[in-house]
Amino acid sequence: MTKQLPKGKCKGCGADIYWIRTHAGRLMPVNTTRKLILADAKDSDTTIVTDKGEVVTGKQVENGFYTDYGYESHFATCPAAAEYRRKKDNQI
Ligand SMILES: [Zn+2]
Repeated sequence: MTKQLPKGKCKGCGADIYWIRTHAGRLMPVNTTRKLILADAKDSDTTIVTDKGEVVTGKQVENGFYTDYGYESHFATCPAAAEYRRKKDNQI
């Protein structure tokens, strides 16, 4: 059974997002593209949050054998988040 995640829109860039509650109890915005990953692979390059709120790092795979699936943090790809960071840096 697939759990339906609450949908939303990023206030910064307007992209569709899902909200996932992490184990720490915080709501985290994630991209809506589901990614398959192989956890603890040698060349891990992707961090995802599963729909159960677990953070898993591994290598992204297209198909075949995978250990987990989930969604990338929207902050990692949001163009508006990068904008915020730049503004912050400029103030210092
Ligand atoms: Zn955004």
